[in-house]
Amino acid sequence: MNEMTRLAAQPDYSEAARKALARAPALFIDGRWIDSTHGRTLPVYDPSTGKEIAAVVDASDADVDRAVAAARRAFDDGRWSGLPPYQRERLMERLAALLEEHTPELAELESIDNGKPRVASQGYDLPRSVQTLRYMAGWATKIAGEHVEPAGMPVGSVHAYVRREPVGVCAQIVPWNFPLMMAVQKIAPALAAGCTAVLKPAEQTSLTALRLGDLVAEAGIPDGVVNIVTGLGETAGDRLVRHPDVDKVAFTGSTEVGKLINRNATETLKRVTLELGGKSPVIVLPDVDVQRTAAGAARSIFANSGQVCIAGSRLFAHKDVFDALLEAVAANAAQWKVGPSLAPDTMMGPLVSSEQHARVLGYIEKGRKEGASVLCGGDAPGGDGYFVNPTVLVDVRPDMAVVREEIFGPVLAAQRYEDLDEVAKAANDTSYGLAASIWTRDVSAMHKLAAKLKAGMVWGNCPSAADVALPFGGYKQSGFGREQGRYGIEAYTELKTVAIAL
Ligand code: NAP
Ligand code: MG
Repeated sequence: MNEMTRLAAQPDYSEAARKALARAPALFIDGRWIDSTHGRTLPVYDPSTGKEIAAVVDASDADVDRAVAAARRAFDDGRWSGLPPYQRERLMERLAALLEEHTPELAELESIDNGKPRVASQGYDLPRSVQTLRYMAGWATKIAGEHVEPAGMPVGSVHAYVRREPVGVCAQIVPWNFPLMMAVQKIAPALAAGCTAVLKPAEQTSLTALRLGDLVAEAGIPDGVVNIVTGLGETAGDRLVRHPDVDKVAFTGSTEVGKLINRNATETLKRVTLELGGKSPVIVLPDVDVQRTAAGAARSIFANSGQVCIAGSRLFAHKDVFDALLEAVAANAAQWKVGPSLAPDTMMGPLVSSEQHARVLGYIEKGRKEGASVLCGGDAPGGDGYFVNPTVLVDVRPDMAVVREEIFGPVLAAQRYEDLDEVAKAANDTSYGLAASIWTRDVSAMHKLAAKLKAGMVWGNCPSAADVALPFGGYKQSGFGREQGRYGIEAYTELKTVAIAL
């Protein structure tokens, strides 16, 4: 069969998408769209076709400085933090309503830009973004300090209390795997806490962040509270990280860049939260429902083409169930229909870029050379887009790169184990510690194993249960700090102790 004919063509873009792609490259600073000082741009590609479809600003240092200055002014004059919290909540809810209203348009744009299936953008990324804004909006009126009685002073002689204040100007740097959702997950807690923000989307996927700028203005959020600067990490991102007027850096992306950011932010001792990579284990005990578990394991690694920090990329199956499970995972993999992002039946789109395409195929090749067997996939289906077929590797050893390194593609490495102590050790034998899933009907084994895993999130009998109310973040080199929930909003506050002799 001709490989090229297996993939459908990318359907035509809608009128709204064409309009968004044709907009003049500009930056959203101080509530307005402004030109860059040096007029440089970056090309935008549709990963389903490899075609160049738009351009965005490659921000200069001066552009970044302008954005930071706008955020600084907006923070310092209290136009946002000084509003009644209820009003901040209402404005955030208005932004949520606008996102909801524009869901079809934003979902299409996200799929064109990132390559993810439109059903996923529309059914997951957008609703999650709306939910995050609404949830965090609720915190605006609920952040509180506390009154504390000093321990060594006569009771009643000193009135002491702890205030929670917004941390200030936040640089928020996000990756390309869930572009709008990540952007919203960053700005929502910042806004609720009363901070101001400069957001830098990933160079590959800036389009929905730019539309977000339009909606921020339309919602009536005051000028300068949210600023959006497109550009490169090494230039614009780095400038933000080192900028003396930035108080906090919140980053999601690779562990390598996370370490660099942490080092560079140290010079000015900025508050830093890092959501980094992972190599999350999926641990299957012998008593499972094989079909259901296989479907979950497949979803854990194939959703979003495996470009997920919490992807379950290391499967550990008990020897009694290994063969049956792997057969079922491979059968399930065949059902993940690979295709262009806008085709209605696509379940797995292309990878985000030609770099990622080459990188993921390179890992598969390396795995093969080191002795892994390809149970299914292992190749690209052809076409001009950056497609990789869902891949399962077996006969892998713990020292192989495909087991140790984050591939960030639809590549599962499966291992067999014999006893539970051994599997906990094997699962923890990684520099990462983001997430893990455990599959069993044995409640006691589930809880015991959950306690042993060095991971920020452990899910039982489901591929993931990330939720805006639940803390999200990693152990070890998967980052530090937590997003979401109460912890997520507290990460945007400073504590101030006030003690007054009465
Ligand atoms: P990345 O470099 O970590 O990108 C994340 C963000 O950081 C982007 O906005 C990036 O800008 C910016 N950035 C890069 N260098 C910076 C610097 N020195 N200072 C400040 N900001 C900087 O990720 P990537 O290069 O796109 O992907 C490489 C690998 O990282 C992937 O293969 C995957 O393994 C991993 N990754 C992990 C996650 C995750 O959520 N865990 C997400 C994305 C990627 P640019 O747009 O210029 O890169
Ligand atoms: Mg990069």
